[in-house]
Amino acid sequence: MRTVEHWIAGKAGPGTSTRTAPVWNPATGRQQAQVVLGTAADTAEAVRAAAAAFEEWSQASLSRRAKTLFAFRELVGARIGELAAVVSQEHGKVLSDARGEVERGLEVVEFACGIPHLLKGSYSDQASTDVDVLSFRQPLGVVAGITPFNFPVMVPMWMHPVAIACGNTFVLKPSERDPSASLLMAQLWQEAGLPDGVFNVVQGGKEVVDALLDDPGVAAVSFVGSTPVARYVHERGTAAGKRVQALGGAKNHAVVLPDADLDFASDHLVAAAFGSAGERCMAVSAAVAVGDVGDRLVDVVSAKAAAVTVGSGSDPASEMGPVITREARDRIAGYVGSGERQGARLTVDGRGLVVPGHEEGFFIGPSVLDHVTTTMDVYRDEIFGPVLSVLRAGTVEEAIALVNGNPYGNGTAVFTSSGAAARQFMRGVTVGMIGVNVPIPVPMAYYSFGGWKDSLFGQSRVHGPDGVDFYTRTKVVTSRWPGLGTPLAASYHFPTSS
Ligand code: NAD
Repeated sequence: MRTVEHWIAGKAGPGTSTRTAPVWNPATGRQQAQVVLGTAADTAEAVRAAAAAFEEWSQASLSRRAKTLFAFRELVGARIGELAAVVSQEHGKVLSDARGEVERGLEVVEFACGIPHLLKGSYSDQASTDVDVLSFRQPLGVVAGITPFNFPVMVPMWMHPVAIACGNTFVLKPSERDPSASLLMAQLWQEAGLPDGVFNVVQGGKEVVDALLDDPGVAAVSFVGSTPVARYVHERGTAAGKRVQALGGAKNHAVVLPDADLDFASDHLVAAAFGSAGERCMAVSAAVAVGDVGDRLVDVVSAKAAAVTVGSGSDPASEMGPVITREARDRIAGYVGSGERQGARLTVDGRGLVVPGHEEGFFIGPSVLDHVTTTMDVYRDEIFGPVLSVLRAGTVEEAIALVNGNPYGNGTAVFTSSGAAARQFMRGVTVGMIGVNVPIPVPMAYYSFGGWKDSLFGQSRVHGPDGVDFYTRTKVVTSRWPGLGTPLAASYHFPTSS
């Protein structure tokens, strides 16, 4: 059985633990590897290695850092297929989707290639008489990233390219469910010429997370995962004096107005609800049908949902793969049943789906529940699976109120042909990322990604300008050079400008 190990100071190794977790192939239902579950001692070793590497890397010139980023960009670009295959095999998502995830991650690397420009400081000449003021940014030190199973390449790439480009060193704690991509990324960084110890990986679960949160050698923590863990990481990390950005779960609504192009909206709605088996933090899990569009929308969406081709991620014909574990499949099936019991109308039932040749795989087909209300569990909880709930609203104002009543605020979309309604929607919703006729409005790498409310704890979003802010501290220097210009006598009053 292959064992997925840690990567510390430029080498793979098993660390100190004897505990492992299975890594499944979700399409076959069989175990394909095991991952070591790191300990506090392994974590401390990685943090020490990263702290030692910080001495050199924090002093690396901007051009050296940019060259390393460019080399990493070339290597990732050349190995997209290999990275996508690793993702698909352990996560289950279809290969084209896995490729898309790597490409979106690569865009963050490309953003970070511009680090000399991004780190430019500012300078005010003659801020006061013969006094100049300048500001510049410096890295924080050792920073950690803790990431979820659903994007094993892209989500870590929201973090490490920017952190490393800013001069920090990095410890990644990937998801224990699909850990192999992290090691491939580590090898690519090494091939790109990144000094050993700048990028480290500690495999494992809560023990490693807690060790990172408590370690005084870790300056900042970036977390992406479910809301309860995000809240916990934010509380424990900030209590330990660290900078923390913690992105949580989601319940993303797509609001369909009566003037929307129904065919276009339903195509996009179905792809956004069932792509990656609904295991995306930006997946649409609630559709809000406004006015008289409801019955027509449900008919079209149900027909399209029932026609989704579900199969192994490696089969090019598959549009949707399995979910991550057997437990996840059973939990999702449980929600479909609870929706029905609580009064929703099940128009498409994905339970019991069997993919020929993959009878043991963790498959569940798309499900659609109509007439869902805000008190039902299917609506209140993040299901994180291929289940679309349809709610009804009388007006756009009612739809906006419904979206805003939800505790999550990650993404939302409106389908309409009215610019005025779209503007009202985007200005009115308490959500961080909004799509207008775009169901999954993931910002480009040069913007920042992050939601509102229970979808983000801490102020800082990931990548883009917020990423650079998060991974640096600013110094402001006020200077004068006696001997030049007009001499100024010292005074005992608080300095004022003149
Ligand atoms: P998760 O919260 O279970 O795990 C995330 C990370 O935290 C993993 O590395 C895991 O090992 C660790 N972890 C799990 N339980 C822990 C605990 N009790 N204490 C300390 N660490 C713990 O999330 P997941 O199931 O891997 O991923 C799915 C979730 O991530 C969904 O809720 C999804 O919405 C969310 N997500 C959010 C975003 C976003 O940008 N907001 C992006 C991707 C995924």
